[in-house]
Amino acid sequence: MSQAFRCAKCGLSCEETDNFCRRCGGSLKPGKSFFHSHAGIIILALVAGPFALPLVWTSKRMGLSAKIIYTILLLLMGYYLVKTCVRIYTLTFQMMQSMTGAF
Ligand SMILES: [Zn+2]
Repeated sequence: MSQAFRCAKCGLSCEETDNFCRRCGGSLKPGKSFFHSHAGIIILALVAGPFALPLVWTSKRMGLSAKIIYTILLLLMGYYLVKTCVRIYTLTFQMMQSMTGAF
C-alpha cells in the first residue's frame, strides 16, 4: 500500500523513496536534505555560523525544541564572532596608534 506521492512542481507521481522528481528534477522532500539534518546543520554552523539559521527553521527533520536550541547556540556564536572581530579591530587600532606614536 503506497499512498499517492506527487511532485509539487509538475504533478508527476513518484516513488515515495525518491528524493528528486524524475521529470523535472525538483526536490520531493523540501526541508529534508542533508543540510537540514542535525549533522548537516552542525557542519554548516561551524563553517557559516549564524548563516545556518534559515536551514534550522526550514528543516522538517527536527522538532521545535531542537530549533530553539540551535537558534540560541547560533545567536551566541554570532555574538562572540562579532565581539572577537571588534576586539581584533580595537587591538589592531591601538597597536597602530602606539606604533605611530613611537615615531
Ligand atoms: Zn516534477
